[in-house]
Amino acid sequence: KIEIASLRKQFGAQVVLKDVSLRVEPGGVVALIGPSGSGKSTLLRCINLLVVPDAGTVRVGADRFAFGAGARLPGTRALARFRANTGMVFQHFNLFPHRTALANVMEGPLTVRRMRRPDAEALARALLAKVGLADKADQYPSRLSGGQKQRVAIARALAMEPEVMLFDEATSALDPELVGEVLAVMRALAADGMTMVIVTHEIAFAREVADRAVFLRDGVVVEEGAARALIDAPREPETRAFLSHFH
Ligand code: ATP
Ligand code: MG
Repeated sequence: KIEIASLRKQFGAQVVLKDVSLRVEPGGVVALIGPSGSGKSTLLRCINLLVVPDAGTVRVGADRFAFGAGARLPGTRALARFRANTGMVFQHFNLFPHRTALANVMEGPLTVRRMRRPDAEALARALLAKVGLADKADQYPSRLSGGQKQRVAIARALAMEPEVMLFDEATSALDPELVGEVLAVMRALAADGMTMVIVTHEIAFAREVADRAVFLRDGVVVEEGAARALIDAPREPETRAFLSHFH
């Protein structure tokens, strides 16, 4: 479960998020859509506290942090635990280039979760199998396609056994023929009951997989609702104008 309330973030003089609230029920999938610069990535980064909000509250599972005047910022350990519980997949894969796919996935379990090596390896192999890459365990990232690298990145995030997963345009750096295999993994995760927030320009995918959609513009939630209804029949003129680019 994710609960964001009255979130505010400013970079210099620019207010990027203005009083944003967002709720994702356990097992829910929310698509976050909006024009470039509307604050989608900043909002995702605030959800896993990669970016520290100026005000508001962020809750993931049992952990809740408040920000703003007088609030005490989370300590390093609380932050590390929180981030491990909030998996994030970026547009670019950020795999360790000098480590095999298997070693990339084992890294978090070994260092952050302090699992025993055989347990970490068994978990990593199971996750590589889950994303369809059991046979690529010993490959280095340079020998993998973009879609395969992104699937390793998803397995790596899952290796922390997070309660929620955040995807920031996970397919937009991929060649078109590789998009489908990554969307298939995301679709399977959603069907498995993972709680997810997906920033995507794949509107058809958002409509199919997400149950809720949020349209963000200039750091404000303009419209929020059932994904199909919002995408097929947006109420707000701004949402309509944005979505008209995809037809
Ligand atoms: P896109 O679709 O292009 O990825 P976005 O909706 O993800 O856009 P953000 O990346 O959240 O938008 O950026 C929102 C605004 O905040 C932009 O104007 C951006 O320039 C600004 N911004 C983002 N990160 C920073 C930062 N670290 N420092 C200063 N400004 C930033
Ligand atoms: Mg972005």
